Amino acid sequence: MENWAGNVKWTPQEVLLPKTEDEIADIIKKAASSGKSIRTVGSHHSFTPLLATDSVSLSLDEMQGLISKEANNRAIAWAGTKLKRLSELLAENGLAQENMGDINVQSLAGAISTGTHGTGITLGSVGTQVEEITFVNGLGELVTLNEENNYHEFKCAQLSLGSFGVITRMKVRCKEAYNLELDIRKEKLSDVLVNLDAIVNENRHFEFYSIPNSQWSQTKRSNIVSHEAGHTSKLSAFINDIVLENWALQLLCSINKAIPSSSKTISNIIGSFISNEKKVQQSHKVFSTVRNVKFTEMEYNIPYENYQEVVKEMLKLIEKNNYRISFPQEHRFVQADDIYLSPAHNRKSAYIASHVYKGMDNSRYFKDLEDLFVAHGGRPHWGKMHTRDAAFFRKAYPKFDDFLQVRVKHDPNGVFLNAHLKKVFGL
Ligand SMILES: Cc1cc2nc3c(=O)[nH]c(=O)nc-3n(C[C@H](O)[C@H](O)[C@H](O)COP(=O)(O)OP(=O)(O)OC[C@H]3O[C@@H](n4cnc5c(N)ncnc54)[C@H](O)[C@@H]3O)c2cc1C
Repeated sequence: MENWAGNVKWTPQEVLLPKTEDEIADIIKKAASSGKSIRTVGSHHSFTPLLATDSVSLSLDEMQGLISKEANNRAIAWAGTKLKRLSELLAENGLAQENMGDINVQSLAGAISTGTHGTGITLGSVGTQVEEITFVNGLGELVTLNEENNYHEFKCAQLSLGSFGVITRMKVRCKEAYNLELDIRKEKLSDVLVNLDAIVNENRHFEFYSIPNSQWSQTKRSNIVSHEAGHTSKLSAFINDIVLENWALQLLCSINKAIPSSSKTISNIIGSFISNEKKVQQSHKVFSTVRNVKFTEMEYNIPYENYQEVVKEMLKLIEKNNYRISFPQEHRFVQADDIYLSPAHNRKSAYIASHVYKGMDNSRYFKDLEDLFVAHGGRPHWGKMHTRDAAFFRKAYPKFDDFLQVRVKHDPNGVFLNAHLKKVFGL
Protein backbone atom coordinates (compact mmCIF):
# COMPACT_ATOMS: atom_id res chain seq x y z
CA MET A 1 0.00 0.00 0.00
CA GLU A 2 1.13 3.58 -0.45
CA ASN A 3 -0.09 7.10 0.15
CA TRP A 4 -1.30 9.46 -2.59
CA ALA A 5 2.13 11.02 -3.09
CA GLY A 6 3.87 7.60 -3.11
CA ASN A 7 6.46 8.77 -0.55
CA VAL A 8 5.23 6.33 2.16
CA LYS A 9 4.78 2.60 1.51
CA TRP A 10 3.74 -0.19 3.89
CA THR A 11 2.70 -3.86 3.82
CA PRO A 12 0.02 -4.75 6.36
CA GLN A 13 -0.66 -8.35 7.41
CA GLU A 14 -4.39 -7.72 7.13
CA VAL A 15 -6.65 -5.15 5.47
CA LEU A 16 -10.10 -5.01 7.09
CA LEU A 17 -13.27 -3.25 5.95
CA PRO A 18 -15.79 -3.48 8.80
CA LYS A 19 -19.43 -2.54 8.23
CA THR A 20 -20.60 -1.94 11.81
CA GLU A 21 -19.39 -0.50 15.10
CA ASP A 22 -19.76 -3.95 16.72
CA GLU A 23 -17.47 -5.46 14.12
CA ILE A 24 -14.90 -2.72 14.81
CA ALA A 25 -15.09 -3.40 18.57
CA ASP A 26 -14.42 -7.13 17.94
CA ILE A 27 -11.46 -6.35 15.67
CA ILE A 28 -9.94 -4.05 18.30
CA LYS A 29 -10.41 -6.51 21.18
CA LYS A 30 -8.86 -9.30 19.11
CA ALA A 31 -5.91 -7.12 18.09
CA ALA A 32 -5.31 -6.00 21.69
CA SER A 33 -5.33 -9.58 23.01
CA SER A 34 -2.95 -10.83 20.33
CA GLY A 35 -0.48 -7.92 20.54
CA LYS A 36 -1.35 -6.57 17.10
CA SER A 37 -1.66 -2.93 16.21
CA ILE A 38 -4.19 -1.16 14.00
CA ARG A 39 -3.92 1.90 11.79
CA THR A 40 -7.16 3.29 10.43
CA VAL A 41 -6.91 4.65 6.90
CA GLY A 42 -9.04 7.29 5.22
CA SER A 43 -8.12 8.19 1.64
CA HIS A 44 -4.30 7.88 2.04
CA HIS A 45 -3.79 11.60 1.34
CA SER A 46 -1.41 12.31 4.20
CA PHE A 47 2.27 12.78 3.38
CA THR A 48 3.57 11.71 6.82
CA PRO A 49 3.84 7.98 7.77
CA LEU A 50 0.63 8.08 9.81
CA LEU A 51 -0.82 5.04 8.07
CA ALA A 52 2.29 2.86 7.91
CA THR A 53 1.85 -0.50 9.60
CA ASP A 54 2.97 -4.10 9.16
CA SER A 55 0.01 -5.26 11.25
CA VAL A 56 -3.67 -4.34 10.65
CA SER A 57 -4.89 -1.68 8.24
CA LEU A 58 -8.54 -0.84 8.81
CA SER A 59 -10.65 1.17 6.38
CA LEU A 60 -14.10 2.69 6.85
CA ASP A 61 -14.87 2.72 3.13
CA GLU A 62 -17.89 0.50 3.89
CA MET A 63 -19.19 2.97 6.47
CA GLN A 64 -20.12 6.01 4.44
CA GLY A 65 -23.18 8.20 4.10
CA LEU A 66 -25.49 10.49 6.02
CA ILE A 67 -27.08 8.94 9.12
CA SER A 68 -29.52 11.77 9.84
CA LYS A 69 -30.32 15.40 9.30
CA GLU A 70 -30.76 17.12 12.67
CA ALA A 71 -32.28 20.41 13.82
CA ASN A 72 -30.40 23.71 13.33
CA ASN A 73 -28.54 22.64 10.19
CA ARG A 74 -26.71 19.78 11.87
CA ALA A 75 -26.03 16.43 10.18
CA ILE A 76 -24.73 13.11 11.51
CA ALA A 77 -22.51 11.23 9.06
CA TRP A 78 -20.50 8.02 9.04
CA ALA A 79 -16.85 8.90 9.61
CA GLY A 80 -15.63 7.05 6.50
CA THR A 81 -17.71 9.28 4.20
CA LYS A 82 -15.57 10.91 1.52
CA LEU A 83 -16.00 14.68 1.52
CA LYS A 84 -17.22 14.73 -2.09
CA ARG A 85 -20.01 12.33 -1.19
CA LEU A 86 -20.74 14.24 2.00
CA SER A 87 -21.11 17.49 0.01
CA GLU A 88 -23.52 15.86 -2.40
CA LEU A 89 -25.61 14.32 0.37
CA LEU A 90 -25.68 17.60 2.29
CA ALA A 91 -26.71 19.48 -0.87
CA GLU A 92 -29.60 17.05 -1.37
CA ASN A 93 -30.72 18.07 2.13
CA GLY A 94 -30.28 21.80 1.52
CA LEU A 95 -27.06 21.96 3.54
CA ALA A 96 -23.34 22.59 2.99
CA GLN A 97 -20.10 22.55 4.96
CA GLU A 98 -19.00 25.96 6.30
CA ASN A 99 -15.57 25.63 4.75
CA MET A 100 -13.41 23.01 3.05
CA GLY A 101 -9.82 22.49 1.90
CA ASP A 102 -8.81 22.53 -1.74
CA ILE A 103 -9.68 18.90 -2.54
CA ASN A 104 -12.68 16.77 -1.57
CA VAL A 105 -11.44 13.20 -1.76
CA GLN A 106 -10.47 12.84 1.91
CA SER A 107 -12.66 10.93 4.34
CA LEU A 108 -14.40 12.99 7.01
CA ALA A 109 -12.45 11.28 9.83
CA GLY A 110 -9.15 11.46 7.93
CA ALA A 111 -9.66 15.17 7.29
CA ILE A 112 -10.26 16.14 10.92
CA SER A 113 -7.62 13.77 12.29
CA THR A 114 -4.71 15.82 10.83
CA GLY A 115 -6.29 19.28 11.09
CA THR A 116 -7.30 19.70 7.45
CA HIS A 117 -8.21 23.33 6.79
CA GLY A 118 -9.28 25.66 4.04
CA THR A 119 -8.97 29.42 4.09
CA GLY A 120 -10.99 32.24 5.68
CA ILE A 121 -9.96 34.37 8.65
CA THR A 122 -13.38 34.08 10.30
CA LEU A 123 -13.43 30.29 9.89
CA GLY A 124 -11.62 27.33 11.44
CA SER A 125 -10.41 23.93 10.21
CA VAL A 126 -12.82 21.14 9.23
CA GLY A 127 -12.49 19.78 12.79
CA THR A 128 -14.05 22.95 14.22
CA GLN A 129 -17.27 22.11 12.33
CA VAL A 130 -17.58 18.83 14.25
CA GLU A 131 -19.75 19.00 17.38
CA GLU A 132 -19.81 15.35 18.42
CA ILE A 133 -17.49 12.44 17.76
CA THR A 134 -18.19 8.74 18.32
CA PHE A 135 -15.32 6.26 18.27
CA VAL A 136 -14.43 2.75 19.36
CA ASN A 137 -11.43 3.10 21.68
CA GLY A 138 -8.51 0.74 22.30
CA LEU A 139 -10.56 -1.25 24.84
CA GLY A 140 -13.33 -1.88 22.32
CA GLU A 141 -15.69 0.61 24.06
CA LEU A 142 -18.00 2.87 22.07
CA VAL A 143 -17.39 6.45 23.29
CA THR A 144 -19.32 9.59 22.32
CA LEU A 145 -17.76 12.96 23.13
CA ASN A 146 -19.01 16.51 22.75
CA GLU A 147 -18.32 19.86 24.43
CA GLU A 148 -21.10 19.34 26.98
CA ASN A 149 -20.37 15.83 28.20
CA ASN A 150 -16.55 16.15 28.29
CA TYR A 151 -15.01 19.36 26.92
CA HIS A 152 -11.43 18.28 27.75
CA GLU A 153 -11.56 14.91 25.97
CA PHE A 154 -13.58 16.31 23.07
CA LYS A 155 -10.88 18.93 22.37
CA CYS A 156 -8.39 16.07 22.15
CA ALA A 157 -10.60 13.93 19.91
CA GLN A 158 -11.15 16.72 17.37
CA LEU A 159 -7.57 16.14 16.14
CA SER A 160 -6.10 12.85 17.31
CA LEU A 161 -4.11 11.40 14.36
CA GLY A 162 -6.08 8.16 14.61
CA SER A 163 -4.49 7.50 18.00
CA PHE A 164 -7.61 7.28 20.21
CA GLY A 165 -9.46 4.59 18.33
CA VAL A 166 -11.58 4.22 15.25
CA ILE A 167 -13.88 7.21 14.72
CA THR A 168 -17.19 5.90 13.42
CA ARG A 169 -19.58 8.85 13.25
CA MET A 170 -19.70 12.60 13.70
CA LYS A 171 -22.20 15.39 14.10
CA VAL A 172 -21.29 18.23 11.75
CA ARG A 173 -22.45 21.84 12.08
CA CYS A 174 -23.46 22.89 8.56
CA LYS A 175 -24.94 25.96 6.88
CA GLU A 176 -27.92 26.24 4.64
CA ALA A 177 -26.68 25.51 1.12
CA TYR A 178 -25.05 28.59 -0.43
CA ASN A 179 -23.36 29.79 -3.59
CA LEU A 180 -19.90 31.31 -3.68
CA GLU A 181 -18.54 33.74 -6.20
CA LEU A 182 -14.90 32.90 -6.92
CA ASP A 183 -12.82 35.81 -8.19
CA ILE A 184 -9.43 34.72 -9.53
CA ARG A 185 -6.89 37.42 -10.38
CA LYS A 186 -3.32 37.71 -11.58
CA GLU A 187 -1.63 40.09 -9.15
CA LYS A 188 1.86 41.12 -8.22
CA LEU A 189 2.99 39.37 -5.06
CA SER A 190 4.28 42.69 -3.66
CA ASP A 191 0.80 44.27 -4.10
CA VAL A 192 -0.89 41.33 -2.38
CA LEU A 193 1.45 41.57 0.61
CA VAL A 194 1.03 45.35 0.97
CA ASN A 195 -2.77 45.03 1.02
CA LEU A 196 -2.96 41.69 2.79
CA ASP A 197 -4.78 42.66 6.01
CA ALA A 198 -7.53 44.43 4.10
CA ILE A 199 -7.96 41.62 1.56
CA VAL A 200 -8.00 38.92 4.25
CA ASN A 201 -10.57 40.83 6.31
CA GLU A 202 -12.84 41.87 3.45
CA ASN A 203 -13.32 38.41 1.94
CA ARG A 204 -14.94 35.33 3.50
CA HIS A 205 -12.22 33.26 1.83
CA PHE A 206 -8.92 34.53 0.53
CA GLU A 207 -5.90 32.53 -0.57
CA PHE A 208 -3.14 32.94 -3.08
CA TYR A 209 -0.48 30.99 -4.90
CA SER A 210 2.98 32.51 -5.21
CA ILE A 211 5.43 31.13 -7.74
CA PRO A 212 9.02 30.78 -6.54
CA ASN A 213 11.30 33.02 -8.61
CA SER A 214 8.41 34.96 -10.15
CA GLN A 215 6.83 38.29 -9.21
CA TRP A 216 3.32 37.03 -10.00
CA SER A 217 0.70 35.39 -7.88
CA GLN A 218 -2.73 33.90 -8.49
CA THR A 219 -5.21 35.23 -5.91
CA LYS A 220 -8.57 33.66 -5.08
CA ARG A 221 -11.32 35.58 -3.29
CA SER A 222 -14.61 33.77 -2.57
CA ASN A 223 -17.73 35.33 -1.11
CA ILE A 224 -21.32 34.26 -0.58
CA VAL A 225 -23.75 35.52 -3.23
CA SER A 226 -27.43 34.96 -3.75
CA HIS A 227 -27.40 34.74 -7.55
CA GLU A 228 -27.27 31.62 -9.65
CA ALA A 229 -24.24 29.73 -10.93
CA GLY A 230 -22.41 31.05 -13.97
CA HIS A 231 -19.02 31.92 -15.50
CA THR A 232 -17.73 35.21 -16.84
CA SER A 233 -15.31 33.36 -19.07
CA LYS A 234 -15.30 29.63 -19.76
CA LEU A 235 -11.92 30.04 -21.47
CA SER A 236 -10.29 31.54 -18.35
CA ALA A 237 -11.84 28.77 -16.26
CA PHE A 238 -10.38 26.18 -18.61
CA ILE A 239 -6.96 27.84 -18.48
CA ASN A 240 -6.90 28.13 -14.69
CA ASP A 241 -8.45 24.78 -13.72
CA ILE A 242 -7.37 22.43 -16.42
CA VAL A 243 -4.31 23.94 -18.05
CA LEU A 244 -2.60 25.79 -15.20
CA GLU A 245 -3.42 23.52 -12.27
CA ASN A 246 -3.04 20.25 -14.15
CA TRP A 247 -1.86 19.75 -17.78
CA ALA A 248 0.53 22.67 -18.20
CA LEU A 249 1.76 22.31 -14.63
CA GLN A 250 2.50 18.63 -15.23
CA LEU A 251 4.42 19.39 -18.42
CA LEU A 252 6.33 22.34 -16.97
CA CYS A 253 7.23 20.39 -13.82
CA SER A 254 8.53 17.50 -15.93
CA ILE A 255 10.76 19.94 -17.83
CA ASN A 256 11.91 21.47 -14.55
CA LYS A 257 12.75 17.98 -13.26
CA ALA A 258 14.70 17.04 -16.42
CA ILE A 259 16.45 20.43 -16.71
CA PRO A 260 16.65 21.95 -13.19
CA SER A 261 18.40 25.07 -14.51
CA SER A 262 15.17 25.94 -16.38
CA SER A 263 13.30 26.67 -13.13
CA LYS A 264 13.28 30.47 -13.40
CA THR A 265 12.02 30.37 -16.99
CA ILE A 266 9.37 27.86 -15.97
CA SER A 267 8.25 29.99 -13.04
CA ASN A 268 7.74 32.88 -15.43
CA ILE A 269 5.79 30.71 -17.86
CA ILE A 270 3.51 29.52 -15.02
CA GLY A 271 3.02 33.18 -14.05
CA SER A 272 2.13 34.11 -17.62
CA PHE A 273 -0.60 31.45 -17.73
CA ILE A 274 -2.59 32.98 -14.84
CA SER A 275 -5.75 34.60 -16.14
CA ASN A 276 -8.54 36.53 -14.45
CA GLU A 277 -11.77 34.61 -13.99
CA LYS A 278 -15.07 34.92 -12.11
CA LYS A 279 -17.57 32.20 -11.49
CA VAL A 280 -20.48 31.42 -9.20
CA GLN A 281 -21.10 27.85 -8.09
CA GLN A 282 -22.43 25.84 -5.16
CA SER A 283 -19.90 26.31 -2.31
CA HIS A 284 -18.52 22.76 -2.33
CA LYS A 285 -17.74 23.00 -6.05
CA VAL A 286 -15.81 26.24 -5.54
CA PHE A 287 -13.74 24.87 -2.64
CA SER A 288 -12.52 21.71 -4.31
CA THR A 289 -10.10 21.50 -7.19
CA VAL A 290 -8.72 18.52 -9.09
CA ARG A 291 -5.10 17.66 -8.33
CA ASN A 292 -3.68 15.38 -11.02
CA VAL A 293 -0.07 16.50 -10.67
CA LYS A 294 1.71 14.53 -7.94
CA PHE A 295 4.01 16.26 -5.47
CA THR A 296 5.43 16.11 -1.98
CA GLU A 297 4.36 18.86 0.38
CA MET A 298 5.33 20.60 3.59
CA GLU A 299 2.90 23.05 5.16
CA TYR A 300 3.49 25.18 8.23
CA ASN A 301 1.11 27.21 10.33
CA ILE A 302 2.60 30.60 11.23
CA PRO A 303 1.18 33.07 13.79
CA TYR A 304 -0.58 35.67 11.62
CA GLU A 305 1.47 38.53 13.06
CA ASN A 306 4.73 36.81 11.97
CA TYR A 307 3.54 35.92 8.49
CA GLN A 308 4.79 38.99 6.56
CA GLU A 309 8.26 38.73 8.08
CA VAL A 310 8.39 35.00 7.28
CA VAL A 311 7.41 35.61 3.66
CA LYS A 312 10.09 38.29 3.27
CA GLU A 313 12.72 35.92 4.68
CA MET A 314 11.44 33.07 2.56
CA LEU A 315 11.69 35.08 -0.65
CA LYS A 316 15.27 36.01 0.26
CA LEU A 317 16.09 32.34 0.93
CA ILE A 318 14.62 31.25 -2.39
CA GLU A 319 16.55 33.98 -4.23
CA LYS A 320 19.83 33.27 -2.42
CA ASN A 321 19.79 29.47 -2.57
CA ASN A 322 18.49 28.99 -6.10
CA TYR A 323 16.47 25.85 -5.24
CA ARG A 324 15.40 25.33 -8.86
CA ILE A 325 11.80 24.89 -7.81
CA SER A 326 8.93 26.40 -9.73
CA PHE A 327 5.95 24.61 -8.11
CA PRO A 328 3.58 27.29 -6.69
CA GLN A 329 3.31 27.82 -2.93
CA GLU A 330 -0.13 28.14 -1.36
CA HIS A 331 -0.92 30.81 1.29
CA ARG A 332 -4.06 30.55 3.45
CA PHE A 333 -5.47 32.30 6.51
CA VAL A 334 -7.60 30.89 9.35
CA GLN A 335 -9.16 31.84 12.66
CA ALA A 336 -7.75 30.72 16.02
CA ASP A 337 -9.37 27.61 17.55
CA ASP A 338 -9.36 25.67 20.82
CA ILE A 339 -8.59 22.14 19.61
CA TYR A 340 -5.63 20.96 21.71
CA LEU A 341 -3.34 19.78 18.90
CA SER A 342 -4.60 22.11 16.19
CA PRO A 343 -1.79 24.12 14.58
CA ALA A 344 -4.16 27.11 14.89
CA HIS A 345 -4.58 26.47 18.65
CA ASN A 346 -5.12 29.83 20.36
CA ARG A 347 -3.78 31.89 17.46
CA LYS A 348 -4.99 33.63 14.34
CA SER A 349 -2.90 31.93 11.69
CA ALA A 350 -1.47 31.86 8.20
CA TYR A 351 -0.50 28.62 6.47
CA ILE A 352 2.29 28.41 3.88
CA ALA A 353 2.35 25.21 1.83
CA SER A 354 5.43 24.39 -0.27
CA HIS A 355 5.37 21.69 -2.93
CA VAL A 356 8.00 19.79 -4.89
CA TYR A 357 7.12 17.84 -8.03
CA LYS A 358 7.11 14.07 -7.48
CA GLY A 359 10.54 12.52 -7.99
CA MET A 360 12.44 15.78 -7.39
CA ASP A 361 14.63 16.19 -4.33
CA ASN A 362 12.85 18.28 -1.71
CA SER A 363 15.38 17.89 1.12
CA ARG A 364 17.30 21.20 1.06
CA TYR A 365 14.26 23.33 0.15
CA PHE A 366 12.03 21.81 2.84
CA LYS A 367 14.80 21.83 5.48
CA ASP A 368 15.69 25.49 5.01
CA LEU A 369 12.04 26.53 4.96
CA GLU A 370 11.25 24.39 7.99
CA ASP A 371 14.11 26.02 9.95
CA LEU A 372 12.75 29.45 9.02
CA PHE A 373 9.15 28.59 9.94
CA VAL A 374 10.16 27.04 13.26
CA ALA A 375 12.26 30.11 14.13
CA HIS A 376 9.09 32.20 13.77
CA GLY A 377 6.78 30.03 15.87
CA GLY A 378 5.69 27.69 13.06
CA ARG A 379 3.76 24.48 13.74
CA PRO A 380 3.65 21.81 11.01
CA HIS A 381 0.46 20.48 9.44
CA TRP A 382 0.16 16.98 10.93
CA GLY A 383 -0.53 15.36 7.57
CA LYS A 384 2.29 17.05 5.65
CA MET A 385 6.04 16.44 5.65
CA HIS A 386 7.98 17.65 8.69
CA THR A 387 10.85 16.47 10.89
CA ARG A 388 9.50 17.54 14.32
CA ASP A 389 9.42 15.30 17.39
CA ALA A 390 7.82 15.19 20.84
CA ALA A 391 10.28 17.65 22.40
CA PHE A 392 9.22 20.23 19.80
CA PHE A 393 5.50 19.52 20.12
CA ARG A 394 5.64 19.72 23.91
CA LYS A 395 6.93 23.30 23.63
CA ALA A 396 4.68 24.22 20.71
CA TYR A 397 1.41 22.97 22.23
CA PRO A 398 0.47 23.99 25.80
CA LYS A 399 -1.98 21.07 26.01
CA PHE A 400 0.36 18.41 24.59
CA ASP A 401 0.69 16.41 27.84
CA ASP A 402 -3.06 16.69 28.57
CA PHE A 403 -3.63 15.18 25.13
CA LEU A 404 -1.21 12.32 25.84
CA GLN A 405 -2.98 11.51 29.12
CA VAL A 406 -6.37 11.27 27.43
CA ARG A 407 -4.81 9.19 24.65
CA VAL A 408 -3.47 6.65 27.14
CA LYS A 409 -6.87 6.46 28.84
CA HIS A 410 -8.50 5.47 25.54
CA ASP A 411 -5.67 3.31 24.23
CA PRO A 412 -3.80 1.94 27.28
CA ASN A 413 -2.31 -0.95 25.30
CA GLY A 414 -1.00 1.18 22.43
CA VAL A 415 -3.13 -0.62 19.83
CA PHE A 416 -3.23 2.47 17.61
CA LEU A 417 0.46 3.40 17.72
CA ASN A 418 3.03 3.07 14.95
CA ALA A 419 6.68 4.19 14.72
CA HIS A 420 5.73 7.66 13.48
CA LEU A 421 3.27 8.28 16.30
CA LYS A 422 5.78 7.00 18.89
CA LYS A 423 8.21 9.63 17.59
CA VAL A 424 5.75 12.53 17.63
CA PHE A 425 4.33 11.50 21.02
CA GLY A 426 7.77 10.71 22.51
CA LEU A 427 6.92 7.11 23.49
C1 LIG B 1 -3.57 16.70 -3.20
C2 LIG B 1 -3.74 17.00 -1.73
C3 LIG B 1 -4.42 18.15 -1.35
C4 LIG B 1 -4.59 18.45 0.00
N1 LIG B 1 -5.24 19.60 0.35
C5 LIG B 1 -5.33 19.95 1.65
C6 LIG B 1 -5.96 21.16 2.06
O1 LIG B 1 -6.49 21.91 1.25
N2 LIG B 1 -5.95 21.48 3.39
C7 LIG B 1 -5.35 20.67 4.31
O2 LIG B 1 -5.34 21.03 5.49
N3 LIG B 1 -4.82 19.49 3.97
C8 LIG B 1 -4.79 19.12 2.67
N4 LIG B 1 -4.23 17.92 2.33
C9 LIG B 1 -3.86 17.00 3.41
C10 LIG B 1 -5.03 16.08 3.75
O3 LIG B 1 -6.24 16.79 3.86
C11 LIG B 1 -4.81 15.40 5.10
O4 LIG B 1 -3.60 14.71 5.09
C12 LIG B 1 -5.95 14.45 5.48
O5 LIG B 1 -5.68 13.92 6.74
C13 LIG B 1 -6.13 13.33 4.48
O6 LIG B 1 -7.36 12.69 4.69
P1 LIG B 1 -7.50 11.14 4.38
O7 LIG B 1 -8.93 10.75 4.47
O8 LIG B 1 -6.76 10.80 3.15
O9 LIG B 1 -6.75 10.53 5.65
P2 LIG B 1 -5.50 9.57 5.72
O10 LIG B 1 -4.32 10.24 5.15
O11 LIG B 1 -5.86 8.25 5.18
O12 LIG B 1 -5.34 9.49 7.31
C14 LIG B 1 -5.01 10.64 8.04
C15 LIG B 1 -5.11 10.37 9.52
O13 LIG B 1 -6.48 10.16 9.86
C16 LIG B 1 -6.61 8.95 10.61
N5 LIG B 1 -7.93 8.38 10.33
C17 LIG B 1 -8.50 8.19 9.12
N6 LIG B 1 -9.74 7.65 9.30
C18 LIG B 1 -9.92 7.49 10.64
C19 LIG B 1 -10.98 7.00 11.45
N7 LIG B 1 -12.12 6.54 10.94
N8 LIG B 1 -10.80 6.98 12.77
C20 LIG B 1 -9.66 7.45 13.33
N9 LIG B 1 -8.64 7.93 12.62
C21 LIG B 1 -8.77 7.96 11.30
C22 LIG B 1 -5.47 8.10 10.11
O14 LIG B 1 -5.16 7.08 11.03
C23 LIG B 1 -4.36 9.12 9.98
O15 LIG B 1 -3.76 9.35 11.21
C24 LIG B 1 -4.07 17.57 0.99
C25 LIG B 1 -3.41 16.40 0.61
C26 LIG B 1 -3.24 16.12 -0.75
C27 LIG B 1 -2.51 14.87 -1.15
